Amino acid sequence: MTDRNKRRNFPSNVWLRRALFFSGALVTGGITVYAVADRLFSAPRYEGPVSDHFGDGKFYNPGPQDQHGFADFLRWRLTGNPGVWRRWMDARPRAAPPERVGDGRLRVTFIGHATTLIQMDGLNILTDPVWSERASPVAWAGPKRVRPPGLRFEDLPQIDAVLISHNHYDHLDVPTLRRLAEAHRPRYIVALGNRALLESKGVRGVVELDWWQGFQPADDLQIVCVPAKHFSGRGLSDRDRTLWCGYVIQGSSGTTYFAGDTAMGPHFGEIRDRYGPIRLALLPIGAFLPRWFMAPVHVSPEEAVEAHQILDAGTSVAIHFGTFALGDDGEREAVEELYRALENAGEQRERFWVLDFGEGRDVPPVERRASESWHELKSRR
Ligand code: ZN
Ligand code: ZN
Repeated sequence: MTDRNKRRNFPSNVWLRRALFFSGALVTGGITVYAVADRLFSAPRYEGPVSDHFGDGKFYNPGPQDQHGFADFLRWRLTGNPGVWRRWMDARPRAAPPERVGDGRLRVTFIGHATTLIQMDGLNILTDPVWSERASPVAWAGPKRVRPPGLRFEDLPQIDAVLISHNHYDHLDVPTLRRLAEAHRPRYIVALGNRALLESKGVRGVVELDWWQGFQPADDLQIVCVPAKHFSGRGLSDRDRTLWCGYVIQGSSGTTYFAGDTAMGPHFGEIRDRYGPIRLALLPIGAFLPRWFMAPVHVSPEEAVEAHQILDAGTSVAIHFGTFALGDDGEREAVEELYRALENAGEQRERFWVLDFGEGRDVPPVERRASESWHELKSRR
């Protein structure tokens, strides 16, 4: 090699080495950030015996495995057509609900998204309580609420039990659970695998249930964890490592069903068969678009009406809308679609309520006739 060639090769070698060094550093940095983020945000994994919805360290929905993976998620985010949401709606919280409700009364208050207060048989039960600003692992990014919770946290009556349907950030909000632990010391009811996360955050008094398992917080009241068709995960590598569910609350004032997050599935009929007649059903309607991506995990408003019919619920109440923009549906789209679906199905709005944020109502007793007609219908099938 001549001297001239050596001189010419020298700088290109340096650049090659620099390029290798920087790309190496970039990859190492990326892996480190991924590992740290995963460690920070992922939930502890459940370990336990194999069942019809758990095996190889993961939970799954019985039936066809139709959920989309990360590549489809990216495709949706790149090609989606998000509807319109207001940036912020400064609504005043409603007045404090009654301290307790008994003597056969059943009262429901819609606080926002999947957060509701159920008052029955002298007990106060919160579902998926979220008072935080964002449904996200961090306080500075992620889906931000467009309106305040319909009730001030300080105006809550004494909370006896908290039902948590699954670990997505719009349902399991650690800061709120810690606040509740401090102010109310409630029982927390979770599905398999979620106790470890709560306990790692200092939240005690957690009861962990598998599908169809029940817990009695009081003599004449039973809370049953029931199937939902959904998924779970809080980090990058913990998908489906903990269970998702809905809940049935059975007391002397009747049966309430909280669906959590769910797609359409045979579980609505099974729940109706085991626990009907249902006086109150809390059914999700939002984050339903686009259907190609959402149908395997979230019901549409039209399917919520179908679920209301399958359940033969005396009264249904819409949840999971108008709070966090999570799907391509605009802020009012789920409610408008629900009203259209009710009309098309010949169902009355009086039996499927859309409550205002913070609004509470007494649920009428379930009509005997409705449940009898269901059994007649079934025996004829
Ligand atoms: Zn979810
Ligand atoms: Zn959700």
